[in-house]
Amino acid sequence: MMENDEDFDRLDEMILEEGKKSPSKKLLICPVCKSNHVMYYLGGQIGYMYQCKDCGYVGSFVIEK
Ligand SMILES: [Zn+2]
Repeated sequence: MMENDEDFDRLDEMILEEGKKSPSKKLLICPVCKSNHVMYYLGGQIGYMYQCKDCGYVGSFVIEK
């Protein structure tokens, strides 16, 4: 029981670290208008959503370069 709890804690930390690392380093491209003016719209347990400033697209899918 204790060991499993620790594993989950470690996994949470890894996910948090990934979340800190990935957003700023990747170039996000809107799949609709190919603009790179894509902002994070919201995050959390359902995952990231993005919003395109140019065409107003909101969704979880963007092109990452
Ligand atoms: Zn767009």
